Amino acid sequence: MFAKRIDRLKPSLVREILAAAQAPGVISFAGGLPAAETLFQPELSELKLPASIWQYGASEGESVLRDLVAQRANRLGLACRPDQVLILNGSQQGIDLVAKLWVEETTKILCESPTYLAALQVFDLFGASFESSQADWLSPTDIEASQADFAYLIPTFQNPTGRCYSTEQRQLLAQAFDLRRMPVFEDDPYRDLAFDGPAPAPLVSHLQSVPWVYQGSFSKTLAPGLRLGYLIAHPDLIVPLTRLKQAADLHSNRLSQAIVTHVLANGTLDKHIADLLPIYREKRDLMHQVLTEQLAEKAYWHKPAGGLFFWLELKRDCDTHYLMQKALALGLAIMPGDPFYPAKPQQTCTLRLNFSHSSLELIEEGVNRLARLI
Ligand code: PMP
Repeated sequence: MFAKRIDRLKPSLVREILAAAQAPGVISFAGGLPAAETLFQPELSELKLPASIWQYGASEGESVLRDLVAQRANRLGLACRPDQVLILNGSQQGIDLVAKLWVEETTKILCESPTYLAALQVFDLFGASFESSQADWLSPTDIEASQADFAYLIPTFQNPTGRCYSTEQRQLLAQAFDLRRMPVFEDDPYRDLAFDGPAPAPLVSHLQSVPWVYQGSFSKTLAPGLRLGYLIAHPDLIVPLTRLKQAADLHSNRLSQAIVTHVLANGTLDKHIADLLPIYREKRDLMHQVLTEQLAEKAYWHKPAGGLFFWLELKRDCDTHYLMQKALALGLAIMPGDPFYPAKPQQTCTLRLNFSHSSLELIEEGVNRLARLI
């Protein structure tokens, strides 16, 4: 009854945990949700919507928005023209389009381990296999030794680890990708959530010759419900990617594009980011402080300089799925780390904790519950 690939679709643990986390009274560190109080609420009455936005639009996206996205990328050091920009219904769509562009049943992908679970799911659906580093960073040696067809990586405030590669590491990795002639897909939705100074320029901006795709999102800065993201691609890739976009859904939602164009053009996006950074920084600092008070002897972690997550490794091996179930019974939702690994990890003692969604009070209470349980 189904295509063969459907056998590769696994039930999503994340969806199950997120459903359980919705129950009243549950403190949720499980998802990657922005805080409700930081969600952008546009003044819809201010928006002058041209009647044309209710018509079908261009698969590439609205041209003013593509210009604004290209300008922003150029300011980051990623040289590109507006015709290299494709507007997406959320950056999750970029993963699907790149998988359709590059993944066959024989394709090998080099990625970080752990990495973004929902990217692994999409690549897996198209039949990819994975190669990854032993450490949770990719190194030039991993690239030199790799047989992979392309690399997928999240160099800035990674999901789930929160790690961010320095400019020097980005340059060295880019050099290795060029030497090995390995195309690069850089996923960058967390860049603007930088609490300790701006993030280094995108890794793909250091590439000299290999094809690349870079993508970003408005979910973490404005609101995930807008479902708006974008990709920027090497000129050779943008035409097939645009055709794939057209085949998938014709074009992105024009109302969301009009809202985001407005807030980018009038500077509201940057103001909104400036307003939400201190809120997230305070939550990150508090989670770090309470973890340090309660769990320093039982777990390792580093304080993330941006993004939405802490990544904990418990010092004693422990089944974190069991821990998750026990935590839920205590009204706390946490995310076991092992689904984020492309291959089954040897240890199952990792956890991802989100700090953006809960209030300061609930962060403290949640870490206290977790510490008692551990
Ligand atoms: N990439 C990464 C690394 C993510 O963490 C997410 C969201 N959790 C996405 C892509 C997709 O985000 P969106 O579709 O909301 O832009």
